[in-house]
Amino acid sequence: MSEPQLAPTIGLEVHMHLATRTKLFCPCAVEYDAPPNSRVCPVCLGMPGVLPVMNEKAVELAVRMALALNCEIPDLAKWDRKHYYYPDLPKNYQISEYDQPLGVGGWLDVDVAGRTVRVGIIRVHLEEDAGKLMHAEGGGNYSVVDLNRTGTPLLEIVSQPDIHSAEEARAYGEALRQLAVYLGISRGDMQLGQMRFEPNVSLRIGSDAAGRPRYTPISEIKNLNSFRSLERAVAFEIARHREEYEADPEGYTLEKLGKTTRGWRDDSGLSFLQRSKEEAHDYRYLPEPDLVPFMPDRKWVDELRASLPELPAQRIARYIAMGLSAEIAQALADENLIGQYFDDLTKAVARLSKTSGDWVSTRGNKVCHDWILQHVRRTLNEKKDDMGEFRSKMPAERLAELIQLVEEGKINRNTGVEVFNEMYAANKPASKIVEEKGLVQVADSGAIEAFVDQAIAANAKAVEDYRGGKKASFGRLMGEAMKASGGKANPQVVKEILLKKLGG
Ligand code: ZN
Ligand code: MN
Repeated sequence: MSEPQLAPTIGLEVHMHLATRTKLFCPCAVEYDAPPNSRVCPVCLGMPGVLPVMNEKAVELAVRMALALNCEIPDLAKWDRKHYYYPDLPKNYQISEYDQPLGVGGWLDVDVAGRTVRVGIIRVHLEEDAGKLMHAEGGGNYSVVDLNRTGTPLLEIVSQPDIHSAEEARAYGEALRQLAVYLGISRGDMQLGQMRFEPNVSLRIGSDAAGRPRYTPISEIKNLNSFRSLERAVAFEIARHREEYEADPEGYTLEKLGKTTRGWRDDSGLSFLQRSKEEAHDYRYLPEPDLVPFMPDRKWVDELRASLPELPAQRIARYIAMGLSAEIAQALADENLIGQYFDDLTKAVARLSKTSGDWVSTRGNKVCHDWILQHVRRTLNEKKDDMGEFRSKMPAERLAELIQLVEEGKINRNTGVEVFNEMYAANKPASKIVEEKGLVQVADSGAIEAFVDQAIAANAKAVEDYRGGKKASFGRLMGEAMKASGGKANPQVVKEILLKKLGG
């Protein structure tokens, strides 16, 4: 009775490149900016008589992702040849997994604007990517092919039709990417085409006499490579199905029309019919005779499962419970190594801190995430380093020591940033840099008074302006006094003394 009218029912197939150094079946490098056809060998060129050799790292990453998605890892997964002819796939078949994938039956909880949507995972499997076919621009009647991408490890993740809007489809795609990047399974670089989405969309149109659900004809949209086009294409299909169904409620049904495959044009914002959907038997799947089935050692699987870190959603919840804002919790949980660094840093700061536990749980946490989100992030961008490299050059204990020097007032905040940069460049502890460069903050009021007097004497005009009501001149005098101290004065003390001397 209360069945939702024309409820969108959406499943998503996601392909992502795995973060391996080499291809799935040969030692060719996975590189995105190499000259065309320079990262190829007889295996990925599909020469006769060559044999594939399975990339162990790719299998491990695939199993890790399947485990992170709460999948079962069956005792046996097998490889199959999926046949089709396309010029960017020289073997004329793709090695994939047909009926026995390496991961089955999982789920992912997705946050959609504050609501949690659980999306079931039907299967996770490993396969190889094809090359890239480029059609001549400017009217040339030919195409060229680059086979560098041929044989790149691809993970395919197929969801249950548990998605019910374009917004949810996008949120699910983003959550998958976040998880994969977080775990180091994929770089998830959308610009490089490392993720592609294929949603299938239909609307539920009530039930038949036997109570089975009925649907509009499922359309699968191929090869979307951004979150924006995923969201737009799904929204477009939902509206198109609704229109077609309302125009012909008897004819526009899955039983009558079956499935279709459609393309998407981002510029016009329209989908278009490509072909009626091929069935599995069209691919003439055959077991791959050159690869042994994958029969994972249970102990190895258990170890992989146990080694999974705390996942982003749990970590975000824990940070929010610690009192951090949702935005900061999200930023820290962006990457596992950043979250780990924050955890290590707060612990190290607590160990060094001579003040009470309250300081650590309030101010201490804030200081730690400020340093990470500002200066660690900035350094990663500037140096193009990843968090693993950062951590080896500046372990959390070292940054904690610097934080302690700033918080105790031994050096001021600006000096702290200077020391931070120097620590990273020179790989030295903070105390050593402070000592070598004589950066200890001057908080002695006698010494600071002398700097303030110097600033007042040398800037009579600013003093006059300030006393005449131009309050902005205060900043100028403050800066001059700090400069006189070589940047080492405690700014709070400078401010107090300067205010007193100016009589304000
Ligand atoms: Zn190769
Ligand atoms: Mn596939």
